[in-house]
Amino acid sequence: MRALTWHGKHDIRVEDVPRPEIVNPNDAIIEVTATAICGSDLHLYHGRVPSMREGDVLGHEPMGEVVEVGSGVETLDVGDRVVVPFTISCGSCWFCQNDLYSLCDNSNPNAELAREVMGHSPAGLYGYSHMMGGYAGGQAEYLRVPYADVGPVKIESDLSDEQVLFLSDIFPTGHMAAENADIDEHDTVAVWGCGPVGQFAVQSADMLGADRVVAIDRVPERLAMARDHGGAETINYEEEDVYDRLMELTGDRGPDSCIDAVGTDAHGTGVVATSDRVKQRLNLEDDRPTVLREAIRCCRKGGTLSVPGVYVGRADNFPMGPLMNKGITVKTGQTHVQRYLGPLLDQIESGNIDPSFVVTHDAPLEDGPELYETFNDKEDDCIKVVLRP
Ligand SMILES: [Zn+2]
Ligand SMILES: [Zn+2]
Repeated sequence: MRALTWHGKHDIRVEDVPRPEIVNPNDAIIEVTATAICGSDLHLYHGRVPSMREGDVLGHEPMGEVVEVGSGVETLDVGDRVVVPFTISCGSCWFCQNDLYSLCDNSNPNAELAREVMGHSPAGLYGYSHMMGGYAGGQAEYLRVPYADVGPVKIESDLSDEQVLFLSDIFPTGHMAAENADIDEHDTVAVWGCGPVGQFAVQSADMLGADRVVAIDRVPERLAMARDHGGAETINYEEEDVYDRLMELTGDRGPDSCIDAVGTDAHGTGVVATSDRVKQRLNLEDDRPTVLREAIRCCRKGGTLSVPGVYVGRADNFPMGPLMNKGITVKTGQTHVQRYLGPLLDQIESGNIDPSFVVTHDAPLEDGPELYETFNDKEDDCIKVVLRP
């Protein structure tokens, strides 16, 4: 079958790889009808995520049709149309039982690798390194779905693929980011990063009752999307000082909640951002925490910092003093996607939101390598790429 494979920094290829087979009785195989490139795939593209191997199949935002089920699968049948969450979860461990699906204790076969680095292993993820389980990803014609009774959500309405595909990751991720931001009715919420997750964080902050949402980026078309679709006020950080502007908007108080939807590859400006890049190149630092620093500086005292942006390792110059002295609460984590599938599918089915507004590129899988580059360079007004295997 055809699949997008990783071959090192800036080297994504379309190749023929073996079609996946049922390995365990609780597996299903889906024929992928639509799959997306995620902002976090760019961390792989930049060679920033450890334990990737040449030839690894990429992708963690797939949907498709069930074509085969293992003998132990009870809830899915051949022919079902499903969206598959990026987090692989067993459904029965303590973490899954407590709705902490992205922290599943059983789904990472390489848990020891992760334990060595982090102390404990989070859940396995599709197409996201061997430390995260070494699972083949969904930017391919077929995908093996382990724990098939726990992850996939069946789509029984006639919604289009692009309307439901983002239940796999970015819609729940933006939504959990907003939930983690502890939003109250009169709150001002600032969202750093207007990529797809940022767009859904803006939408969800509004859904959860925020009084005002301020979106921060440097790409004009992304800021325009946050304005037009999310009703956000916007700050272009290349044109305005973010701290000054946020203080002006909030009467010097600062936003009640700050959401970092950027993560490890923040651009940033000035001397500190340059120093981060140098340290990263010398392997003295893994992450560039530009947004974390700025958000902690801007957040109101006693406010909340929610971090859906992906970080991979160590970050320097982390402002622990300001964080502590300002009494800021930090909430973060990979998304517990399974927790949100039902409620967010309801929102889509009832017409409250149509997530397809983020799609700017829709192309055959064969165009994948080129579109990784386009997406990375933010060329051609690219915000979200959907691929059709
Ligand atoms: Zn993703
Ligand atoms: Zn589990």
